[in-house]
Amino acid sequence: MSAVARLLTGGQTPIVCRTLKELSAVRRAADAIVLQQQGRLARVGFVPTMGALHSGHLSLIECAKQGKLNDPSTTFVAKPADLIFSSIFVNPTQFAPTEDLSTYPRTFETDMEALTARGCHVVFAPTAAEMYTPHSPFRSFVTLTGIDASSPEGAARPGFFRGVATVVTKLLNIVQPTDSYFGQKDGIQCIVVRTLARDLNLPGRIHIGSTVREADGLAMSSRNVYLSAAQRKAAPVIYRALEEARETIRQQGITIAGSRTESLSTANSPADAERAAQLAAQSNGGAASQAPGSALEPSKPLSPQLSAVAQRVREVIASEAEFSAVQYVSFSDGATGQPIADMRESTARHGAVLLSVAAKIGSTRLLDNIVLQGAPNDLGWPAGCPAYEL
Ligand code: AMP
Repeated sequence: MSAVARLLTGGQTPIVCRTLKELSAVRRAADAIVLQQQGRLARVGFVPTMGALHSGHLSLIECAKQGKLNDPSTTFVAKPADLIFSSIFVNPTQFAPTEDLSTYPRTFETDMEALTARGCHVVFAPTAAEMYTPHSPFRSFVTLTGIDASSPEGAARPGFFRGVATVVTKLLNIVQPTDSYFGQKDGIQCIVVRTLARDLNLPGRIHIGSTVREADGLAMSSRNVYLSAAQRKAAPVIYRALEEARETIRQQGITIAGSRTESLSTANSPADAERAAQLAAQSNGGAASQAPGSALEPSKPLSPQLSAVAQRVREVIASEAEFSAVQYVSFSDGATGQPIADMRESTARHGAVLLSVAAKIGSTRLLDNIVLQGAPNDLGWPAGCPAYEL
């Protein structure tokens, strides 16, 4: 029996692939074996990570295994995966020179134990050279219009989303998953991934699992190990501030925008011609040539209501002396990730708005977010949104 066939019987240590060649051989074998056994191609669930795994990552492995998201309020369309692939790759292109690339926690042995216990089958753990310079120089990067400069996270970390979009594009092309799983913990990243998968017809569907938290509400993160005992004690104030904001907005009873359903224009229709012209302008002129009112319009000052909510979030976090700065409190359209000034501007399903915070505690930067309006973890698109469907 081949190594891949043995994996399907369960309980085995995952196969570790260090090269693209090894990974693609395993991926092809997976299809061949499932085809032989069940007369169809393999359903591969994929969970990309940077390692230093915690229960947040592992919940996504569980989602892939069960074909069920860890949020009962979402309607979920995936079937349980035949094989679960994960990747452990600390992606250098998403780190700025001033960031923690060299010190980012690396815990491969314990990660492997956790992945084995959760039933992961294949781990892709390439070197940076394998991913970026097999035929150097590496020159192709993926960017999303309007995200790098105009989302607060993009502005705070120039080049970050370009690095994420590039590595996710590469990983989805390499692994060819049926379904991929990302965590809402990185809310704008989820929107970026979903958008690029749809725009570039990347393989598989994109699913978002809800944020897994410690008992006191702190969002789990590989970087939480950087926190001192005092910082760790103070850190959950971020989630408390977000929850208070959710409650304020709920009590104020904001009328949400009608949900706008995205429709695919038919070829040669007036809408198609208009879209083609828009795309041509966009690719020639970039964001600067966007029509007013489009998704890429620069953000306006927050409405008085959202401004008061943001101010209160800042105050609640700043009440913990361990925090040195609240870098941003932002409201984004749950569908596009673009900053919005008013709840009614959301174009997402159920008017979903992502309320995100980045705050510095010592030298550690903590991120968290919640979804306002709609289902608790609904980032404004149907669960299991197809990236590419045959
Ligand atoms: P990372 O290793 O930080 O790049 O994260 C890999 C994946 O795990 C990403 O899709 C993250 O959004 C997701 N993730 C990280 N932390 C959590 C968490 N606390 N809950 C759910 N998903 C998470």
